[in-house]
Amino acid sequence: MIVEQVWTANSYRNFNYLIACPETGDALAIDPLDYKKCLAAASENGWNITQILNTHEHGDHTGGNKAMVKATGAKVIAHENAGGRIPNMDRGVGAGDIIKVGRSVELECLDTPGHTMSHICLLSHTDQPALFSGDTLFNAGAGNCHHGGHPNELYETFSKQLEGLADDTLLYPGHDYLINNLKFTLDREPDNTVAGDMITKYKDQDPRDALVTTLAQEREFNTFFRLNSASVIARLKETSPDIGDDPDERTVFLKLRELRNKW
Ligand SMILES: [Zn+2]
Ligand SMILES: [Zn+2]
Repeated sequence: MIVEQVWTANSYRNFNYLIACPETGDALAIDPLDYKKCLAAASENGWNITQILNTHEHGDHTGGNKAMVKATGAKVIAHENAGGRIPNMDRGVGAGDIIKVGRSVELECLDTPGHTMSHICLLSHTDQPALFSGDTLFNAGAGNCHHGGHPNELYETFSKQLEGLADDTLLYPGHDYLINNLKFTLDREPDNTVAGDMITKYKDQDPRDALVTTLAQEREFNTFFRLNSASVIARLKETSPDIGDDPDERTVFLKLRELRNKW
């Protein structure tokens, strides 16, 4: 499996992806908003884009479909319940479905509601797994829920699916929000030295060659994975004393998600 991360350089800071089979040159484009850059990357590598996967229905993820289909004839794949909101879908997928790319690549669909209620993440079946997380999980952050999502479902997705993924899983999110999210981590957990060091190291990184984190790293500096941190809980109590001394993970997650909305 070959992964090409395409930086769109737009104001939403979208990342698009091409996933290619090294044996056949067939490629799947994930959320190819900047279809021109995706097409250029495919042509540079000699790849043939045969499929498009939309992680969810938002325009900054589906906006390139039409032109991409016109240029390549690629089939459009998305969550089975996204049909009304994503035009011209060729295939609807649900939890456990497999998307094949060429001969050698298998991508497993995870049904991950929360950011929207028809959101798919892809998990590669490779020695070192890779997660293509759309707007569900970001570097050091979590997706918002105010355009068709629900924080409670997002918590369920984190606790039942993302938390259990292997430590060495590589994370490929739909946007570059790394630095801003790390600042939120420090706001919530001022003694998180890993987050502080990451800001120093990556604040001037070139998003065309962006850091790819692992889930082990995310567990260290992504506040939404740090629901049992004494320091996160103590800080939450300053503004929400009602959570008590030993709040459950769901309570902490929902408070953090709410605070992040206004931060
Ligand atoms: Zn979105
Ligand atoms: Zn987005």
